[in-house]
Amino acid sequence: MFRVDVTTAVFLYLMSSLLAIFLIWIFFERSTVFPKFVREKADVWECSICTYTYVDSTHHDISQCPQCKSYNKKEADDRFE
Ligand SMILES: [Zn+2]
Repeated sequence: MFRVDVTTAVFLYLMSSLLAIFLIWIFFERSTVFPKFVREKADVWECSICTYTYVDSTHHDISQCPQCKSYNKKEADDRFE
């Protein structure tokens, strides 16, 4: 059988626990930072008629320009998902 003494067992237990916590920390750190970047990028609209740049976080596909009141469709190139 595979024999380990108490010191080695405790050491392996602590190291595996720390590694698990570290991996979970990295995972949640990435998932909290990355959508924020995508969200800010998606909120910025540039009007295709008057080239007015504005922020509209309530709409994701079609937004109305506050300056010339024309509707803008989100380009596929602007999405980094
Ligand atoms: Zn406009």
